[in-house]
Amino acid sequence: MTYSKLCETLQGIQDLRGAQAILSWDQETQMPPKAAKMRARQMGALSALIHEQSTAKELGQLIDNVSEDELDELGKVNLREAKRNFERSLKIPASLVRELTETCSLANEAWFKAKTENNVSEFLPWLEKLVDLKRQEMECRAPGQPIYDELLDDYEPGLKETQVEALFSELKTWLIPFVKELKEAPKQPDLTLLKRPFKIEDQKAFGLETIKLMGFDFKAGRFDTSAHPFCGGVGPYDVRITTRYLEDDVLSSFFSFVHEAGHALYEQGLDPEHLGLPVCEAASMAFHESQSRLWENCIARSKAFWDFMFPRFVKQFGEPAKGLEQDRFYHAVNAVEPSLVRVEADEVTYNLHVILRFELERDLFSGKLTVAELEDAWNARMVEYLGLEPKCPAEGVLQDIHWAFAGFGYFPTYTYGNLYSAQIFDAVNKEIPDLDAQIRSGNFASLREWLREKIHRVGKRLSPDDLIQSISGQALHQSYLIDYLEAKYRPLYGLTEA
Ligand code: ZN
Repeated sequence: MTYSKLCETLQGIQDLRGAQAILSWDQETQMPPKAAKMRARQMGALSALIHEQSTAKELGQLIDNVSEDELDELGKVNLREAKRNFERSLKIPASLVRELTETCSLANEAWFKAKTENNVSEFLPWLEKLVDLKRQEMECRAPGQPIYDELLDDYEPGLKETQVEALFSELKTWLIPFVKELKEAPKQPDLTLLKRPFKIEDQKAFGLETIKLMGFDFKAGRFDTSAHPFCGGVGPYDVRITTRYLEDDVLSSFFSFVHEAGHALYEQGLDPEHLGLPVCEAASMAFHESQSRLWENCIARSKAFWDFMFPRFVKQFGEPAKGLEQDRFYHAVNAVEPSLVRVEADEVTYNLHVILRFELERDLFSGKLTVAELEDAWNARMVEYLGLEPKCPAEGVLQDIHWAFAGFGYFPTYTYGNLYSAQIFDAVNKEIPDLDAQIRSGNFASLREWLREKIHRVGKRLSPDDLIQSISGQALHQSYLIDYLEAKYRPLYGLTEA
């Protein structure tokens, strides 16, 4: 009885979050500009309501009164998550929550101005304040515990700094020379091959055709356009994805389509029987990213995929695709090129961008690095890792929005997503031995259903550690990503026989 009351309460809070998600989607895709102020109030009102209900005494009593022994396995998961969230929100004084929210909003403005004017000093005092406030927050939450562990835990439950450190340093030791080797390899991609106009309406049609093949359910989701691609809405029945189009960069919108659809399939695959409860939520941020990366990189940048899609690409785009050779096209799709900006990076160098950010965040919170030294440290590492030096802060230390919303501990989940995706891809290939042939004939159904059963439906039933163990029989290990990249890029760059 108490348990069903607890579920009702949790579902009620989740309904408010759902309403907020749809309002936020609307803001990014449909909202007329004059509505901005009103929308901010509406979002604020919902936030206040959510905060009130998630910290209410009654909720705490419900959690205390449920007896764990009477619950089945799923009930225990729901109770565990409810407890964790409730205890967490109670430990932080309301005044600190308010100060963090206000500072983030001001820091955001300052970051935008600093980036536009290429003036780091505009943003640094705000960054310093945010680091200090997050430190206070984590000390309230877990006194005496390592601060960076707590920061990581907000995005990837249970992840520890020492684990990230160990994994990333192994990965880095392999990555830096590998990128150099590719750069000097005998076979190089033609980077200009696709730098020509491709009609937006064709980009849209081709993207839609692809996500339909992947199995995106248009009766449980929508597709729209926004300034920054995202996947939002409420899974599993109302999942909203977006892309944006650049006429001169056909791959940009295409891979956004696939990436966001990968996220969307996760959301659409959540267990509908437990709607609004933790069991019907994704395992973690990195697991979410593993699904987008698996579809984007392991599938949509694979040879098998383009064996099927290339003729369709040529047919869809007509004139600008005329005379393209599939092999050269495939290499251009997989060009590895050190660059300054993370969001434009390829699947190999991307991880170095993430490792750099992790190391700087870690040093900021350990006190090894001051905010004033941050830009120099950033630039020095860029040279060391990628051989490039930013010419201005906008393409260097100010490029990402994450630090402006105090999202410290967020970046590692991107590379964890890549690591998980490679390990999952290895497992699925073992269990579906003809997967490559299926992809080559445009059949994505058995891959999708496998992911659905092993990952999407599972939700938060398993921790990220237990989930990867259940899928691959092993803990997360960097060797899967390294082997995947070696096997793909060595032949492509003429370093080994294909
Ligand atoms: Zn993503």
